[in-house]
Parts: sequence; structure tokens; C-alpha cells
Amino acid sequence: MRRWSLTTRFACVSLLAVVLLGAVVGLAVQRVVVTAATSEAARSGKLLGQFVEEGLTPASLTQGLTPDQAAHLDRSTAEVQRHGQLRNVLLYAPGGRVVYDARHEHDGQTMAVGAELAEAYEGNLGSQVEHDGGAEHPEDGSLLEVYVPLRLADADGRRAVLEVYLSYDETAARARRATTLIAVALLVGLSTLWALMWWLSVSVNRRLRRQADLNEHLARHDALTGLPNRRMLSGALADGTALVLLDLDRFKEVNDALGHAFGDALLQQVAGRLSAAARSSDLVARLGGDEFAFLAQGVLDEEQGLALARRVVQAFAEPYLVGDVVLDVEASAGVALAPQHAADFETLLQRADTAMYLAKRGADGVALYDASSDVNSLERLSLLTELRAALTSAAPQLHLLYQPTVDLRTGAAVGVEALLRWQHPTRGVVPPTDFIPLAEHTGLIGPLTQHVLHLALRQCRTWRDTGLDLPVAVNLSARNLLESDLPGRVAQALVDHGVPAELLVLEITETALVEDPERAERVVRGLVDLGVRIAMDDFGTGYSSMVSLTRLPLDCLKVDRSFVADLDTGGPGAVIVTSSIALAHELGLRVVAEGIETPAQLLRLRELGCDVAQGYLLARPLPADQVPRFVLDHSALAVRG
Ligand code: C2E
Ligand code: MG
Ligand code: MG
Repeated sequence: MRRWSLTTRFACVSLLAVVLLGAVVGLAVQRVVVTAATSEAARSGKLLGQFVEEGLTPASLTQGLTPDQAAHLDRSTAEVQRHGQLRNVLLYAPGGRVVYDARHEHDGQTMAVGAELAEAYEGNLGSQVEHDGGAEHPEDGSLLEVYVPLRLADADGRRAVLEVYLSYDETAARARRATTLIAVALLVGLSTLWALMWWLSVSVNRRLRRQADLNEHLARHDALTGLPNRRMLSGALADGTALVLLDLDRFKEVNDALGHAFGDALLQQVAGRLSAAARSSDLVARLGGDEFAFLAQGVLDEEQGLALARRVVQAFAEPYLVGDVVLDVEASAGVALAPQHAADFETLLQRADTAMYLAKRGADGVALYDASSDVNSLERLSLLTELRAALTSAAPQLHLLYQPTVDLRTGAAVGVEALLRWQHPTRGVVPPTDFIPLAEHTGLIGPLTQHVLHLALRQCRTWRDTGLDLPVAVNLSARNLLESDLPGRVAQALVDHGVPAELLVLEITETALVEDPERAERVVRGLVDLGVRIAMDDFGTGYSSMVSLTRLPLDCLKVDRSFVADLDTGGPGAVIVTSSIALAHELGLRVVAEGIETPAQLLRLRELGCDVAQGYLLARPLPADQVPRFVLDHSALAVRG
């Protein structure tokens, strides 16, 4: 059954109440008027009674009226009868005998004694309304009969009664008029009131509904972009649904460098472009931060899913113009399909998220969910637990390999980089790229770095004790640079192992400087003050500002191996290598080229004036005991290209 609206229900209930109230008031008024009329009639009856009694004696009751007395009564009543309400007057002797009838119809007759008459004989005033005037005189209309007990009594003390017939029509008419008037006034007043209440209820109801609609909208939409939010998205799952999850690359850096207002404006533009790319059946949502979702229906296979993801990332093909800044924004898109990858929304979202992380690592920024590469979060969790255990394990699972670096001019080994290896009891060797990001996300990176530092310095001291002073480079994570007590701990470790600070190189990355530049800079200065050297690792892969490069007391730049690889192919990285070398030298820094694998790369780097080389061509990361041999072989030799 259809439920009535709130306003309709209000209308019915209040109308019913108004009508009921009107009826009750109307009835009450009618009763008041009738009571007033009756008591007025009784008063007139009593007056007439006093008037009639005069000149009558107890004998009049037993022997009847003398002609004089009757004539006197006739005269007295005739006048009133003509003009007023009086219709007839009857004088009863005790027992119901009529002594006088103004109309002379019942003179001398004995009438049946009704209840009112009997009451009057007892001395009480009675009255009664006779509608339709009785059969005798229909022309009189309704009559009000008043029985007035008289003081006049017979010899036995039984009193006489005067019955007065008054026209009731006028009283009734008066009551009707008053009732009508009041009813009209009441109706007008109450309907105005009702209309007012109706209007009030309609407008309140409308406002409530608007507020409810607004709340509903807010609950299902993102305030910044106006796009649907995750909640609304979750309702749109069906078979053939593809969910593309998008994440802007390096949005945090944009936000930090250009401010949050700028970041917001960019997100709004991204929302606009994604919405423009959507068809009517597609749904674009913002899930929070720089994460967007694009949900499309009718996507049946993986090919179509990937095509959709590619279409979506087209929104980033053109640069964005925010204010007067032109910005190239890139995004990674992961796509998952229902029902192939998940049957419920939460799982689908999780799968698309996994695919997105795959996309971030891939070349074209787009990836389809692949169950085999889904690093189950439970497994990651157990890996983390195992890593924590490995840090304190009696049987050492964590050890370092050392990759030598070589001076490109003299060919001499000038140092080693300590690279962490995890010999897992069941998994085999776990590469650092698999577990270091995990540690970085949990705070385990602090103890882990401390452990590596300890292992590297202990090894350095061992070599030193055999007469080999070899600088060791240790990698720091971005997180480590936010630990303000790091310089203190490094200083302590140097003292503990008896290693001079010049033999320690700490490799930092550009990302470390982006997150909290001031704090990171303070920590770097603290380290340099100890006499430790700082290398900028993986140079060119992050976003470092020229300013921070000039401000920081760096020792060298390590050009990332992805650029070095391009030296062979003539790819775009070659230019970066060339300009990085020029830049570093301009700033008075040494340059280390990473990942040298071919003689051609080595030759080219030497031509370009690169200072130090590192790579498989020269040496793979070596166990500590093989390092002295390498150093010996490369001490005074010139490098043959
Ligand atoms: P990285 O600091 O850039 O280290 C150089 C990486 O390049 C090492 O990988 C090394 O084995 C590899 N490599 C060296 N020469 C060549 C070459 O010619 N060709 C190729 N393809 N690769 C070469 P590895 O040991 O797997 O380490 C990977 C990354 O893990 C490191 O990159 C570093 O960022 C991180 N890492 C390693 N050990 C530690 C550590 O103790 N602490 C921290 N925080 N990070 C570490
Ligand atoms: Mg390194
Ligand atoms: Mg590197």
C-alpha cells in the first residue's frame, strides 16, 4: 500500500480536528441559546402567573371563574397574544381540571396530568418544547410550554398551575442565527489557521527534504570535486563491471612544492577530465587523496579492460594548466574485472589496487590485475614478522655483499657499497627490493639500517686491521633521514668499531629530501659534521630541486643505472648522464656511474669525464672475503677499456 506523504497525513488529521472542534463549539452555542431562551420564557411565565393570580380566590378553583374574572383574563392575555410570543394560557385547578383556557377550547375539561404538570402541582417550575405545535394548532409551529406553580390554592391547600404556551420558532431561529454566525466565524478563523499550519508544514517539510537530499548527496559525494565517493561507487557493481583505479604519480610532491590550494585545483581539473571521458553508463569517483576510480559496465574480457584503462589515462596525455603553471601529470591505472577477478566490490577494489601498484612499476602506467603477482597482504605481513625475527636471530640470516667502485682514470678500487642480502631459511635469498620497502612502511627500517651500519663498520674495521683502509658506502632509506638522532647513532657506531668517519659514505635518495626537506637537511648536516661523506644515490630518478643540491654538503652524485644503460642505445638517458656529469662537476661533486655492464658504456663514461664506475662489468656484489683480492688486483692498474 502506498504510504501517504507527511503533508497529506497532516492535512487529513488537522482538517478532522478543525471540523470536530467546529461541531463541538456549534453544539455548545446552540445549547447556550436554548437555555437562555427557556429561562427567559420561565421568567415571563412567572410574571404572567402573578398577574393572573390577582383577583382569583380559592373558590375560583372549585366553582370556576366568574364572568368578570374570565373577561379580565381574556383582556390581559389577548393583548400579549396579538403582539408577543404568547400563544395560549391555561389555568389548571388541582387534578388537571381546566378552569380557564384563553382560547376557550378546554374550559371545564379535565386533562391528563403529565410529568411537567405534576411537577408544577408540587411547586416546581417545568417546561417542555412541543415541536410541530401538536395536532390541534399546526399554525402555531413549535411551542415552548411552561408550567408555573401558583400561590393560589384550594381549601385543601392544593395549588393551581398556570400553563403558558409560547412560540418557540423565534427562539429556535435565534439559536440558529447565533449558531450560524459563530459557525461561520469559526470556520473562517479555523480554516485560516489550518491553511497557515498547512503552509507551515509544507514549507518545513520541503526544507527537511532539501536538507535530507543535501545530506544524502554529501554522504555519497566528494566535497572537493563533487564526484561520487567510494560509498556511491560500491553500489554500482554488476557482472561485466570493470574498475579502473587511478593514482596520480608524485602528487604529494606537487602538493608540497606548489601548495595545497594548487593541489586541490589540480584534482578538480583531473576530476573534470575524467568526467568528460566518461560515457553515460560510466561512473567516475574520487576515493580520497589523489586516488580516483573509473567504473564501466559491459567490459567482458581482459583486452577490453586494458583498453578501458588506456582510454582513462588519456586524461593525462595533455599537460594541465593550473593558474599559470603548466604541469605534466602522469597517473598509474590498475584495472580489475567482475566477476573474473572478484565478485564483491571490496575485493574488486583491492584487486584494482594491486593492479595499480603493478602499473606504477610498469612502463606504460597501465596494468590488469594478475593473481600471480598479487603479493598477498597476509604474506607480506608474515614476511615482515620474519624480518623482525631475522634482525635478532642467533643464526644470522642478514648479511652484506660488497660491490667495489673503481676510479675511472686510475683503475684503482676506491671503495665498496654494502648491499644487504637476506638468506631466508625457507624462501632462499630475498632481494632487498622485496623487503626494504616493507620495512620502510612499518618503522622496522630504523633497526634494520642500524644493523647494516653495524655489519658494514665491523667489516671495515676487519679490513683496516689487515691494513686495508677501504671506504664503505651504506644505503639510507628516506625514512632514516627523518630520524633526528641518526647522527648521534652513527657517531656512536663509528666509535664502537673504531672506524674513522672518512671511511664511511652514506647514500641518500632524492625522495628523502622531498618529504621533509628541512628536517632531512638538518640530519645530513649533522652527519657531515661527523666527517662522514654523503652520496646522492639513484640521481635523476626522483625530483630533487637544484636548490637542495647546492645547499647540501654532498660528496658525490650516483647517476642511476637506467640512464647509464641508454649510453649504448643512444636513448634519452644518455643526455641525462652527460648533463649530470656536467652539473656535478659544476657543483664541485664527484660523479659515480652505476650499473655499468658493457665496455662501451665504460669508454663513453671515461670520455665524458665521469669519476667513478660501479657495475657488473667491473665487479658483482662480492662476499667480504673476496674484496681484498679485488682491491689488490685493481690497486695500481690502469683500467683497460
Ligand atoms: P642501489 O643503492 O642503487 O644499489 C645498486 C643496485 O644495483 C644493487 O642492487 C646492485 O646489485 C645493482 N647493480 C650493481 N651493478 C649493476 C649492474 O651492472 N647491472 C645491474 N642490473 N644491477 C647492478 P641490489 O643489491 O639488489 O639492491 C637494490 C637496492 O636496494 C639498492 O639500490 C638500494 O637502494 C637498496 N638496498 C640494498 N641494500 C640496502 C641497505 O642495506 N639499506 C637500504 N636502505 N637499502 C638497501
Ligand atoms: Mg646505493
Ligand atoms: Mg643506486
